[in-house]
Amino acid sequence: MNSHQPRETRRAFLQKSALATAALASIDFTALAAGTVENGSASTGGAQPWFRRTLRWGQTNITEIDPQRYDIAWWRQHWKRTRIQGVIFNAGGIVAYYPSKFPLHYRASGLGDRDLYGELASAAHEDGLAVLARMDSNRVHEDFYRAHPDWFALNAGGQPYRNTGLYVTCVNSPYYDEYIPSVLREIIGRSHPEGITDNSWAGLDRDSICFCENCQRKFREQAGQPIPRAKNWDDPVYRRWIQWNYSRRLEIWDLFNRVMRDSGGPHCLWLGMNSGTISGQAQRFRDYKAICERSEIVMLDEQTRSDATGFQHNGEAGKLIHGLLGWDKLIPESMAMYQAGRPTFRLASKPEPEARLWMLDGFAGGIQPWWHHVGAEQEDRRMFQTAEPILRWHAENQQYLVNRRPVATVGLVWSQENTDFFGRDNPDELVELPWRGWTNALVRARIPYLPVHADHIARDAGQFSVLILPNLAAMSASQVEAIKHFVERGGGLIATGETSRCNESGEPQPDFALADLFGAHVISADSTNRRRAAEAQHTYLRLTPELRARVYGPKAGDEPAANGERHPALKGFDETDILAFGGVLEPLRIESGATVLATFIPAFPTMPPESAWMRQPRTDIPGLIVNETSAHGRVAFLPADLDRLYARDNLPDHGNLLANLVNWASRENVPLQIEGAGLVDCHLYRQQNHLVLHLVNLTNAGTWRAPVDELIQIGPLSVRVQLPSGVRGRQVRLLVSRATAKAAEKNGWLHFKLPAIADHEVAVIG
Ligand SMILES: [Zn+2]
Repeated sequence: MNSHQPRETRRAFLQKSALATAALASIDFTALAAGTVENGSASTGGAQPWFRRTLRWGQTNITEIDPQRYDIAWWRQHWKRTRIQGVIFNAGGIVAYYPSKFPLHYRASGLGDRDLYGELASAAHEDGLAVLARMDSNRVHEDFYRAHPDWFALNAGGQPYRNTGLYVTCVNSPYYDEYIPSVLREIIGRSHPEGITDNSWAGLDRDSICFCENCQRKFREQAGQPIPRAKNWDDPVYRRWIQWNYSRRLEIWDLFNRVMRDSGGPHCLWLGMNSGTISGQAQRFRDYKAICERSEIVMLDEQTRSDATGFQHNGEAGKLIHGLLGWDKLIPESMAMYQAGRPTFRLASKPEPEARLWMLDGFAGGIQPWWHHVGAEQEDRRMFQTAEPILRWHAENQQYLVNRRPVATVGLVWSQENTDFFGRDNPDELVELPWRGWTNALVRARIPYLPVHADHIARDAGQFSVLILPNLAAMSASQVEAIKHFVERGGGLIATGETSRCNESGEPQPDFALADLFGAHVISADSTNRRRAAEAQHTYLRLTPELRARVYGPKAGDEPAANGERHPALKGFDETDILAFGGVLEPLRIESGATVLATFIPAFPTMPPESAWMRQPRTDIPGLIVNETSAHGRVAFLPADLDRLYARDNLPDHGNLLANLVNWASRENVPLQIEGAGLVDCHLYRQQNHLVLHLVNLTNAGTWRAPVDELIQIGPLSVRVQLPSGVRGRQVRLLVSRATAKAAEKNGWLHFKLPAIADHEVAVIG
């Protein structure tokens, strides 16, 4: 359809806009309001602002050919079918879809004088939807560069940085300080969107240093030094450059939001776009904690899963961001309806089960749906069938999906500084893999957990029985103190790898800052496992005490084997004295009160098989140390970084040992037990007088290799949930199978059975 609507007068527009506001206010949020009132957080009377009540979104990323083929009437029907309450349209940036007054603001080829963006915004407002205008400020066409060469990022040779044939703008230039604000004002003045997002707002990533005049002058003013010529993490000036870049992105965030409020009122927001991984945020100098502290909503751009991180990454991302943003705010996430990821086919439909599971795991972590297509016309029409049933279910059950507080006794601690200053150029190996090993082990063991920012330990500690520090090497003094305080008050602690070995700048220190808690000290002052090999070594851990004598009897010439009991952290390993390891360890000095539960067996050949025997069967190099005194909570230190190795190698022994440590260090204080085969991602929440248990079935043929094209049903599952005070009753309603489950209460635990789960189930308990 090519019905170009006549351009409207400003007066007509304002009338429409007023109608739109009325329509937004009149949306029936009864169900949602019931949830908020129950939580006692609802402001009495009057609708919540759009950023608190818009629970389902849609986006058609407009391509340059679309002004000739955009069937707005059809899309309005699709908005209605999919129950969305907000929509995102391209306005400007790389390509403008309205007749901008700025001559260098490149218009879509074929746009002419048409205001496609404005027509869409008006239609959406008429339909009662919130509208976000989409920008991409990252780069522009050549004529713009020729007109303002001093607004562009330059490499060390003075040449402009280019990307996809376009010229990359510099965040320190008037392009960001003056030009973009004037475009924001123009868009707000023309169409009154509720807010503006920006796909790629943060400028050059950290692998590229800008040497333009603006950057050189501003950095020298701030640091008193020239911009570093090359990456060097050991150079304090380079690290200062990193921090200076972070600060600049926050200045831009604040500047653009001031412009929005001044032009569009207090609820008119600039929202950029943020990713679902900390390394992704670090790469673009986006300080997640600081951004969440200043935003009312996070628009999340994490469209699909990777094989390595799985669907469970989406639930985890939701929980991590809510931990920064608050659980009363919303995190809509762009979810690709096309084949995104590896490989990417923008115009081919993503297999429905693959898209579905990504969306559902997001719901489980407190994320809201936002379907995403590229292009206004699609020949693979299957992609239009994916969102509708899922978003209908979301609309029917939305009161249980927002305004809830997570229930978890396990906190997994992270910081962006650890990714930057310890991870440096290898954050995947040093930071992400240990993290992922833990999240995979916890999901596999069905233990609910929450990500905790290292600066929030004191704030959040009350709910946790145990904190886990996954190779959290770079720690500030105050973070170290918060951990010590938590353990002194009886909290359990599990730390792995090089945790607390560095200061917050990533510089190795003579000893672990948490050495007293670990009961273990660094011996060699310059030893550091930064050089640890990424490839697997043929090494093992020896479990102590050895139990071989119990089975086979002692043999002459062997070290004496104790006939004792193993520590509960080694539960399930009685029939082995060794575990496959795969990493490298260095000697440590162990305090007399601490107990070593595993020691290192150095590498020996695997080939030829005749040579595969241990050259050094025993060392006193510790791999696992537990430190248990009446003076503080239980502490386990795992220099053998089984978390990293579990993520890398997927050996069940590693996952089981990690789960054992959680049960031991938390004194078995885990509020959920689920029995039955399958890989299930478990999220437990509390609303006022009931619990909400969200289970996502990750058991399928594509679990570790996208895409999934078939759901595999699991069940029955036996569920036991600890009832917190205030949650009463034995009623369990199942929101997906639309049934009730019979439940029995015993000693404060509720027990019920789930007959079957195909994709997910939500149990409302109490
Ligand atoms: Zn620059």
